[in-house]
Amino acid sequence: MLKDNISKVKERIASVCLKINRDPSQISIVAVSKGRPVEDIIEAVACGITDIGENRVQEAILKYNKLVTGKETNRQIVRWHMVGHLQTNKVKEAVKIFDLIQSVDSLYLAEEIDKQAAKINKIQDILIEIKTSPEVTKFGLNADAALGVIKEVGKFKNIYIKGLMTIAPPVKHPEEARPYFKILSGLLDDLNRQTILSMGMSDDFEVAIEEGAGMLRIGRAIFN
Ligand SMILES: *Cc1c(COP(=O)(O)O)cnc(C)c1O
Repeated sequence: MLKDNISKVKERIASVCLKINRDPSQISIVAVSKGRPVEDIIEAVACGITDIGENRVQEAILKYNKLVTGKETNRQIVRWHMVGHLQTNKVKEAVKIFDLIQSVDSLYLAEEIDKQAAKINKIQDILIEIKTSPEVTKFGLNADAALGVIKEVGKFKNIYIKGLMTIAPPVKHPEEARPYFKILSGLLDDLNRQTILSMGMSDDFEVAIEEGAGMLRIGRAIFN
């Protein structure tokens, strides 16, 4: 049951917050519904989920249209997050539906987002994706290049940088993900303290919370 899964996730968040004296209300949950039918999203929303994450633009548009058509209210209560790699040729569509694009990993992509957002008079909220692990297949900016790019992206008029995102590699024990989260939170030293850190998934979000995550992206723990 989705309802039980969501309760369990919230209990896990509450328990780690209690341990380290953080306020659980400061931590948001993005339910990552990739590969799941729109009915699951509707159910999750009925259970109090307000933020939905998708990793493919086409899939997100289909679900968005199903959810929004004839139900204008849902549009207001659900915020849509793009968490997967975004190709520049999909940006035009992406800016139409996503409230937060979490996977901005190059100046080039940011430039295209700025351009397309300007066309529809939107200030597009984004996160800068940082590659914190050396895996070759991973997208994201190298941590040492990040600050320079953030400065450049900050000049775009139709983009607002809300924070940073990273994907830790799959590990056997959640504790092994800690160094990757530390790299992301380490970048905060040079940034505004309001910066949101989007890190932590089903298997490792407790450790992410300990390292300062303000936004968790949770798929399997909710939808399985
Ligand atoms: C799928 C996905 C998640 C959720 O992963 P789970 O391990 O299922 O919680 C989070 N972030 C991104 C970028 C994803 O693609």
